[in-house]
Amino acid sequence: MLALAAWLALAWLVGCRGAAAQGPKPTGRLRVDFLDVGQGDATLVTSPAGKTVLIDGGLAEAGDTVVAFLDARGIAMLDLVFLTHRHADHLGGLPAVVDKHGTRMFLDAPYPHEIQEYQRLLVLLDRKHVPVRQAERRRSIDLGEGARLTLLGPPEPPITNTRSDVNANSVVSRIDFGKVGILFAADAEAQTERWLLDSQANLRAAVLKVAHHGSRYSSTPKFLEAVQPLVAVVSVGAGNEYHHPDAQTLGRLARMGARVFRTDIDGPIAIESDGGKIEVFVQGRKEVFQVP
Ligand SMILES: [Zn+2]
Repeated sequence: MLALAAWLALAWLVGCRGAAAQGPKPTGRLRVDFLDVGQGDATLVTSPAGKTVLIDGGLAEAGDTVVAFLDARGIAMLDLVFLTHRHADHLGGLPAVVDKHGTRMFLDAPYPHEIQEYQRLLVLLDRKHVPVRQAERRRSIDLGEGARLTLLGPPEPPITNTRSDVNANSVVSRIDFGKVGILFAADAEAQTERWLLDSQANLRAAVLKVAHHGSRYSSTPKFLEAVQPLVAVVSVGAGNEYHHPDAQTLGRLARMGARVFRTDIDGPIAIESDGGKIEVFVQGRKEVFQVP
């Protein structure tokens, strides 16, 4: 009952907008910005109703990049910050964002990993009086004008004995708007993908934020077959020490017919959709994809 009340509060917070303009104007279009934060993930979702959700915030040194990007988009305060898992390349930049911009709500990945950067973030969220909620599977958040964010994880029960249990318990999510689905695979491991397939979750999505920076251990053939992405986005740093993305993974995506964009090569990647087709903006050019 408590959890339900908490989520009603979340729906309310995301659903309402203060009198002062604090974000972008409604455009009727869904926009997703995959920021170029080097090695890590930081994704800004702007809903057709002008609601803003930041999914992860890159490494600590990327904090200024994320803050500058939000400034350039005219965003004073975010509606929601959503952490997929507690690794430094996803949460390190968030303290700068919470400090400079603030957020109406923080949605945390529940799998424990008590690193220093995470503790710093919690202290700051507390100091800024930001409500903190734990991500719960199947929760769906109304982003307005028909767009919804749905949490497909965390896995139940938690996945253990993997290469990285923190990665394996990443909270995978999707946004749906009209015919367009965007799947955010976080740093999912192969075991996560198998669990998602077994969970009967809707994985079909025109756009895939590729799992774990294009690691060879994720993006298994069965998972990609279920997603059938037209567009695949790899968020990855140039010359990173992990050798992401892996050539085999890129090959699997290409064989699936996905057009792959990479932040290390393409820089920031923006996707806009009217719910029917997808427009990808990279390096000053636009590519259009029709969603069947
Ligand atoms: Zn990562």
